[in-house]
Parts: sequence; C-alpha cells; structure tokens
Amino acid sequence: MGSVIVVGGGPIGLASAMLLAREGHDVTVLEKDPQGPPATALEAWRDWQRTGVAQFRQAHAMHARFRHLLDAEFPDIRDDIVASGGRRVSIMTGFLNQLEDRSPRPGDEKFETITARRPVVESAFARAAENTPGVKVIRGVSVAGPIAGKEIAAGIPHVVGVRTKDGRDYAGDLVVDALGRKSEFDDWAVGLGGGHRSRRNQTSVSRTTRVITNAVTVSSPSCGARPSRSKPRSKRSACLPTTKRGSSRSSACPATNR
Ligand SMILES: Cc1cc2nc3c(=O)[nH]c(=O)nc-3n(C[C@H](O)[C@H](O)[C@H](O)COP(=O)(O)OP(=O)(O)OC[C@H]3O[C@@H](n4cnc5c(N)ncnc54)[C@H](O)[C@@H]3O)c2cc1C
Repeated sequence: MGSVIVVGGGPIGLASAMLLAREGHDVTVLEKDPQGPPATALEAWRDWQRTGVAQFRQAHAMHARFRHLLDAEFPDIRDDIVASGGRRVSIMTGFLNQLEDRSPRPGDEKFETITARRPVVESAFARAAENTPGVKVIRGVSVAGPIAGKEIAAGIPHVVGVRTKDGRDYAGDLVVDALGRKSEFDDWAVGLGGGHRSRRNQTSVSRTTRVITNAVTVSSPSCGARPSRSKPRSKRSACLPTTKRGSSRSSACPATNR
C-alpha cells in the first residue's frame, strides 16, 4: 500500500484521508491552521480559529446526499453530529406544507438530512480522523506547492510530494488536493509544465450570518453582524437549524446593496 499526502484539513481532506486509510494507505493530512477541534459545539463555534476557511462561520445546511454518505461510510460522524446538537430535517416537510394531501409516501425518507453549523460538522470529522488508524493530521503546516519527480509520461508532471512554506518536504506516492475553493493546485501544476489554469469569476455577492441563541445573541466574528439588529438583512434569508440551543440566519445580497 502507498503513502498519501492530503493537502488541506477541511471536511473533504479529512474524509478522503479516512477513506484512503481504510484501504490500507498511510495518510498524512497537512493543514495550515494550527488549532485542532475543540471539545464542544459551543467552543467549536466560538473559539475555533479557522482563518483558512472564509465561510467557516457562515450558515451551512447539508443536502440529503450528505446524510446518505454518512449512513454508508461514517455512521460514527453522523452520531457525533447529532450528539453535538445537529438536527434531522427533511425538505419534504416544507413541500408538504403547501399541499392538501400531506400523507407520507414511500421514499420520502430519502430527503432527510442531518445538518448543523459548519464548525460542528467539521469538528466531528476532525475527531474521527484523529482516531482513525493510518491517518496523521499535522496542523500549522502551510504547503507552498508540489515537488516534481522524474517525468514518467511526456508533458505530464509527476508529483512525488509537497514542500511547505518553511522548507520541509513531505514525500507521497499520491498527493490529494483538498484545498477547497481557493486551491492553488491548478496554478502549481501549470508551474510544473502541465494542467490548466481554472477561470475564476467575481459574483459580487456578499453573505452575512447571524446566530441567535436562547440566552444571548452571538454575532459571527467573521461577518460583523451586529447583535442589536432584530431583523435579518435581506428578505432572502433562511433560518437553519444549528444546535439544540439556537438557530442561525443567513442572507445573501449584492455587495453593492449592503
Ligand atoms: C458562503 C458559503 C456558504 C456555503 N454554504 C454551504 C452549505 O450550506 N452547504 C454546503 O454543503 N456547502 C456550503 N458551502 C460550501 C462548503 O463550505 C465547501 O464545499 C466546503 O468548505 C469544502 O470543503 P473542503 O474541505 O473541500 O475545503 P475547505 O473547507 O475550504 O478546506 C480547505 C482547507 O485547506 C486549508 N489550506 C488552505 N491553504 C493551505 C495550504 N497552503 N496548506 C495547507 N492547508 C491549506 C484551509 O485552512 C482549509 O482547512 C458554502 C460555501 C460558502 C463560501
């Protein structure tokens, strides 16, 4: 079996690492942000510094397919999310409310998902990864780019590992790009003489999330929402279940219209 370097320790990097380790590979996850997952859902929301993920404290809702994958591959993570206050919800509930005949039909259960705040979901993945034999998560390591080895196929760079910004090398038979939407891997591949640069477009949309708990109002540190506002910023806002103690409200509006 091989050695794998996963670059990026968000949910996708951690899930990839666990699945690859189950296949018998020796997996190292390199994550830029130094802090590991806090013990509780509240601490994960309030204290977890994740500057590598701009949307970390924006409201997230997970699709039903996410729950299907948890059931099949990560029931322990599913149970951890629920134990941390995640909710089971179904988009069918909203649809059925608009109909006279609301009787359930076979297959409705397919639309049920499990959702929680992003820090809660990610901390469940991070805890599971830490307890997975064959997975080593190294935090506080910023990758500067891939290392090219001897060419195997003409015109296709052969990546044999990565170099960190402080000059350390990590060798791997396989390098997985899990750097999320701001990944520089396509630029790095072009730098090595292969691949294509991806096109990025500005959407000119800005998002804010506001979290309301039973006892106090907590503003998202990353979006600057003010605790004193009693109404959401936009009519296009959505109320999403988060923990047993609160809910979050998210809105998106053109950046020029804030
Ligand atoms: C405003 C907003 C709202 C969203 N809402 C939803 C939603 O409701 N539901 C949903 O399913 N999805 C939602 N998404 C998408 C979701 O957030 C992403 O799909 C998810 O974050 C992807 O996870 P990932 O692990 O691939 O990447 P990320 O979560 O971006 O993780 C990438 C990791 O790489 C690390 N990293 C970065 N550079 C380096 C480096 N040089 N070296 C080492 N590590 C590095 C970062 O610190 C980070 O931990 C939303 C996205 C945005 C922007």
